[in-house]
Amino acid sequence: MQVINVPNTGHLTCPCGSWKNHWVKFNPNKLAAMLQLDCSAVGCAGKFEHGGHVRKAGDMTVYIVPLCAACNSAENIGPYYIYDHVSRVPADPRATCDPR
Ligand SMILES: [Zn+2]
Ligand SMILES: [Zn+2]
Repeated sequence: MQVINVPNTGHLTCPCGSWKNHWVKFNPNKLAAMLQLDCSAVGCAGKFEHGGHVRKAGDMTVYIVPLCAACNSAENIGPYYIYDHVSRVPADPRATCDPR
C-alpha cells in the first residue's frame, strides 16, 4: 500500500506515551504487534523505532504504522510503500486511547 508521511506531527502526543506504544496497544493482531521488529516500508532494512503518522492518497484518515527513524523523518516527503500485512492503527486519540 502506498502512503505518505503526514507533515508536522512531531509535536503530537497521546496517553500511550509514544506512537510506537499506541500502534502496539491498538493493533488488532497482538501476536503480529509483538513480532513486529522492522520498519514496515517495503525494501527498508531499518528497525521499528517510531510509530509514524501516514495517510493514503485520497484518504484524509491518519494512521500509525511502524517506521524506522529515516522513514519517519520530515525529510521523507515522497510517497512510499508499506507492506500490506502490517496493520494500520487509527492515529486519532479520540477513536482509540483518549475517548471523551
Ligand atoms: Zn495512544
Ligand atoms: Zn524504514
